[in-house]
Amino acid sequence: MNSIDKLTEIFRSFPGIGPRQARRFVYFLLSKKNGYLDDLAKTILEARKDVNTCESCFRYFVSNGTGSTLCSICRNSSRNWSQLLVIAKDVDFESVEKSGAYQGIYFILGGTIPILEKSPETKIRIHELLQTVEKRAKDSILKEIIISMSLNPEGENTEQYIKKALKPFVEKYGLKLSIPGKGLSTGTELEYSDSETIKNALRNRTE
Ligand SMILES: [Zn+2]
Repeated sequence: MNSIDKLTEIFRSFPGIGPRQARRFVYFLLSKKNGYLDDLAKTILEARKDVNTCESCFRYFVSNGTGSTLCSICRNSSRNWSQLLVIAKDVDFESVEKSGAYQGIYFILGGTIPILEKSPETKIRIHELLQTVEKRAKDSILKEIIISMSLNPEGENTEQYIKKALKPFVEKYGLKLSIPGKGLSTGTELEYSDSETIKNALRNRTE
């Protein structure tokens, strides 16, 4: 594989990028001066170094070399720790946080489970989620888990899988399990929902 094809393949692996777009990125980069490419490479490496994964909610956050292992939300005692919002990815977190509709704590699954997936436990952080729920429920901190997946077959598949896995804990500790109201239309991704829609969906959540 030559270097143009190799770079194209890398861009193709990005979310939402098709072969033609990937190729356009490659030619765009090739048309740039060396300084631009050096800056780009440096910025990517710096981001990798400055960014940590929060050990509580598993989202990426800028730690700026402070060595902090918890993000600003998981360090904030004035958040509502009785609520845990389970979402698929970091961009979903950004949409919800921007809406200002939610004051609780998050958990980022890190993906979704494709239909007919043989090893669903390798696609999302299910073990970490169960550990988090068990620990906080045992300490009487956690009261409600809200599962907010995209309204498409993969999102629904993931929701069903998590609900089943959480069931023993929900029963044992008397937790409330809810999903946002269907103000979000079918096929909607949380990532692309506006603040008003997210607010309504979270307010009108159902069991
Ligand atoms: Zn966190």
